[in-house]
Amino acid sequence: MLTAAVAGPVFTSPSVDTILAALRTVASPAGVLLIVKSYTGDRLNFGMAAEQLRLEGIPVETVIVADDVALAGSGEHAGRRGIAGTVLVHKIAGAAAELGAPLDEVANIARRVAAEIRTMGVSLDSCTVPGSDAPSRGLGENEIEWGLGIHGEAGVERGGLVSADAVVDRLLDQVVADMTQDSPGRVVLLVNNLGATPPVELEIITGSALSWLEDRGHTVERVWTGAFLTALDTPGVSLTLLAVDDAILGHLDAGTTAPAWPGASGHVSPTSVLDVPTDDDADGPALEKGGTLYRAISGVCEALIKAEPELTELDSLAGDGDLGTSMERGAQAVLDRIETIPRVPEAALQAISLTIRRAVGGTSGPLYAVGLLHAATVLTDSPTPDDWAAAFKAGIAQVGELGGARQGDATMLDALIPAAEAFAESEGDPSARLDAAVAAAADGAKDTIDSVARLGRASYLGERSSGLMDPGARAVVIWLSALRDSIRGSR
Ligand code: ADP
Ligand code: MG
Repeated sequence: MLTAAVAGPVFTSPSVDTILAALRTVASPAGVLLIVKSYTGDRLNFGMAAEQLRLEGIPVETVIVADDVALAGSGEHAGRRGIAGTVLVHKIAGAAAELGAPLDEVANIARRVAAEIRTMGVSLDSCTVPGSDAPSRGLGENEIEWGLGIHGEAGVERGGLVSADAVVDRLLDQVVADMTQDSPGRVVLLVNNLGATPPVELEIITGSALSWLEDRGHTVERVWTGAFLTALDTPGVSLTLLAVDDAILGHLDAGTTAPAWPGASGHVSPTSVLDVPTDDDADGPALEKGGTLYRAISGVCEALIKAEPELTELDSLAGDGDLGTSMERGAQAVLDRIETIPRVPEAALQAISLTIRRAVGGTSGPLYAVGLLHAATVLTDSPTPDDWAAAFKAGIAQVGELGGARQGDATMLDALIPAAEAFAESEGDPSARLDAAVAAAADGAKDTIDSVARLGRASYLGERSSGLMDPGARAVVIWLSALRDSIRGSR
């Protein structure tokens, strides 16, 4: 892209002699094209060096890039600066020179591009100049600066923080308004990291800018995202647009060995939205409102929603704090569709499993979903308490199979396994058997206080997890108690 780059001290133009040293080292009789970003110091020093080199018999052409539209309203004065768009001028002029075009032709292409290119930047803070310990002009928490240069100088305007979409809207509005083409056309987009913007934020800006341009009828031929022209650690971004034709695109696409130029060359892949095939959801007659199964399901869900703060707190101490909201989200999703849950128990469990699978992630989501799904396969059409006991056990076995936990690992299984056994072994009506199950689950949950979690997020705590009840086991006690209460109440 370039034969030489001449750097001055931080934010200072190089001196005439530094520039001359570079020029004398690389210049050939074919001449030199200087690409200079418009700043007063640079124009003076490069201008003087060019003068001197011409005296030494070397043809020199100079192209000044002044792509910053932040100062557009104030006309073509010294304030209209050269910023990130300059990188595209480097790329295009470099490719033209590499093809062997003579100096005046390369200079003409570079001038044409420089006249078309438009950029504007924004930042969340200023940068920290080496040697000082804080950003030169610290911005407030919720402040941003519009229209800044690349030398740490102040932006044209300070304003309140706005969303990424609003940032893109203002930058592109101003950039497009300043372009010479008066109808939407073929453009390339450069999304430039001013130094300290995380890649994820840069991609958000890029996505937003692409939609903005496409919505307004522009064809984005190429887009590059990355750190092309930085101002130390400025947390900011600039957007550059250049109207292109096939010839200019050819120069942009031409291969280069410049390591900082992205190899994949900016092609924009077309996006399309595909329909995802979804599972067949339940059909057939829905749960009888107020019937046993209806009350059991809604009772369990309501109890889990109510227990959110308790489970959140437990999981914050023992794990990562998401169990309360996970269970709440799952329970709410089931409640939201309770009118469409099928009446046949087997199909009801399948429908609940599917709902949980969709709504709940983490560890508990898939484990509950697999347990319910497997329990359903064991159920008959009108299950007896013994059938329910068999389904309970089968479901839990599958939880152990998928999660790889055993009793004593301080997981929900420590409550579930004894509960299922107690339910299977006790006599009497379902609510009496559930009494036994709740008592066994509570004992099992209590035992997790003394054991060290071997699986799940809590296991990362090692010894520190002992002394705390496993939140998943506590959740089992909560929903099992609710199940018992609602079945007893509905008799
Ligand atoms: P995560 O650890 O992914 O945040 P959740 O917060 O959804 O998971 O659930 C935490 C609960 O999941 C734990 O309290 C524990 O009871 C249970 N659990 C973790 N790992 C397993 C496992 N392998 N098998 C069974 N239950 C587990
Ligand atoms: Mg968790």
